[in-house]
This record gives sequence, C-alpha cells and structure tokens, in this order.
Amino acid sequence: MLSGLELKCLLLDEGVVGIDKAFKLPVRTSRSTAGPGAGKRSIALELDGHRMKVGVTRDPGQKYNLIDSEQDYDIAKNGQTIAQGVQIIPIAMHAPYQAFINLEAGCIYDCAFCVTPSMGDTKTISPERWVELILDSVKKEQVDAVAVTSGIPEDLRTTTDGMLFVVENVREALSDMAIGVEPYIEDVEDIQRFKDAGADEIKLNIETATQALFDRVCPMLDRQKVFELLPKAVEVFGKGNVTSNIIVGLGESDEEVLAASKQLIDMGVVPTLRGLRVNDGNRDRLTEALGTTPTKVPSSRLVKLSEGLKKDLSVAGMFPLELKTMCHKCGCCDIEPRWDI
Ligand code: SF4
Repeated sequence: MLSGLELKCLLLDEGVVGIDKAFKLPVRTSRSTAGPGAGKRSIALELDGHRMKVGVTRDPGQKYNLIDSEQDYDIAKNGQTIAQGVQIIPIAMHAPYQAFINLEAGCIYDCAFCVTPSMGDTKTISPERWVELILDSVKKEQVDAVAVTSGIPEDLRTTTDGMLFVVENVREALSDMAIGVEPYIEDVEDIQRFKDAGADEIKLNIETATQALFDRVCPMLDRQKVFELLPKAVEVFGKGNVTSNIIVGLGESDEEVLAASKQLIDMGVVPTLRGLRVNDGNRDRLTEALGTTPTKVPSSRLVKLSEGLKKDLSVAGMFPLELKTMCHKCGCCDIEPRWDI
C-alpha cells in the first residue's frame, strides 16, 4: 500500500480521481478561485498526516478512483486498491479548517500564471457580505484560521481597503482567530495598516525565482518593490510570520529556486514553493509570455525542492514552521516541508 507521501505525489501528478455516480460525498466540493487548483471542483484528502487536494469527477473510466470503505476510503488504480485508510477532510472555505477567501475575482495586472484574471464570478460580493460569509462559516464548521487574498479588478487602493475592512471586522468579531492576508502592496504604510486591522501573518509574493522570469509573466508588477517591502513586513509582523510565494515550473532551475528561497530566508521570510498548474485559465497567457507552453511540474521535483527548503530553514533556525494561516498551515496543494518532508 502507498504511504501518505507516495499517495500525495501520485495525486499531485494525476490531478483527478473518479467517484462513482451513486457515491454520496460526505462533504461539499470546493471550487478554488485562487491558487494552483483554481477553476476545478475538488476535495481534500488526508493519509498519515499528509494532506492533498484533488479534483473529482463522476465521469466513468478513470484510472484512479476513490472508494467508500465504511470507516474511511480507499484509492484504487484500475480496480486494485493501492491506498487504504484515506480520510476526506472538510473544506471550510477553499482550504481545510480555514476560511480563505478571494475577495475579488478579475485582475488588471494580468500575471500570466494566475487564473484570477479569467474568473469574474465572485466580483459582486461586497466586503460586508464576505465578513458575514466568513463569520457564518466559523459558526457552522471547524475553522482555525481566516485568510484573505484578492484579485485587483479596478484599482489597488479599492482592493486594499476592501481587504482591510474584512480583516478589521473579522478581528472585531473573533478576537482569538488567526488571520492571514495575501495582498499586493505598493504603499509601505499598508503593511502597518494590515497589522493594525488585526492580521497576524502576511504573504507578499516575489512570485518567480528570477527577475527575468518575473518581467515575462508579471510585467505590470514590481518585484523589486516587493523585496524592499519584505524587511518592513518582518519588522511589523515578526520573523516567521511573513511568507512569499515562489512559483516553480516557469523555466527556472532548481538552483535558482533555492537561491531565491535563501534570499527570502535571509530576510526572515518563509518561502512558499508553489508548483505551476497549467489549465484553461492560464495556458494561452503563459504560452504568450514564455514563448512555450510549460508542462506540469513533477511531484519528484517538488519533493527535492522542499527538502532543500527545509534544510535552509533549519540552518536559519526557522524550522519547525509555526505559521497558522494560508498554505503552510493547509499543506494541500504542494509538497510542504512542515507536513510532508
Ligand atoms: S495549499 Fe494554499 S492554495 Fe492550496 S488549498 Fe491550501 S491554502 Fe489553498
């Protein structure tokens, strides 16, 4: 039988499991509007402490299938059981045990890897309504953390103010809840504003391992500015409470990923390595930006990079990770040093 990590790697590589038409899932499926799984209906599974989000389909003829096994679930490959004791874990909002919202879909910055610019369906939900939805979710489900990200459909100030409103109001209602934010920031004062509003953790993304790749995929954003803001974020939020995404799979080498990751660690920032997912929402824009269509990042590469990341974090005294929100807390979509390595 596969171990938890082996199953996670397999499902990261395969992306989808079949479920029988008559099978009644014990949880709602989730449709992500941010992150690598954006646009898909998915569920979260757990085996031996390893969590994985996987797309589900009721279309027959799938190679891998999720089978109800009374107490828990099995995964079968062509009818043969390959993993047992799998749990389905409930997704509160986007992530297990988290109310992680994408405040606004659509984005004027149009980064090539991101599917948010191609999704406009949550645009009409006001910040006030998002606060109600989050508090409702906290009442009804097990929620340990709240997190807020957003596309920027009109202008940066409007989106930042909307995110601040949500954080402030959730904090007012839930004094003990861990709150994380993932904003794009240009005004350094906004870092302190998020802290004052009640955020515990912040993610400011450098997005790519190299500046040259950034110039291709995010020509409208300023990576240098993010590097300038990160030390301020560490000063305000504290070492280990600031994270930054590096997307893997845009054509960079492993050495470049770990060099960028080391740069972040040296600033007291926890890197978040995210494997690129190519789908209908980003394929054409990625091909145009890179001059080639990138392929899926194999899980074996993510394991290797995560091992390197864990080593560098340990040397810097930043491991074990204690982040309470967003991807390091969740651990579903990528190989995560805290849960998987
Ligand atoms: S790992 Fe990150 S992107 Fe994936 S479900 Fe969890 S919080 Fe969302």
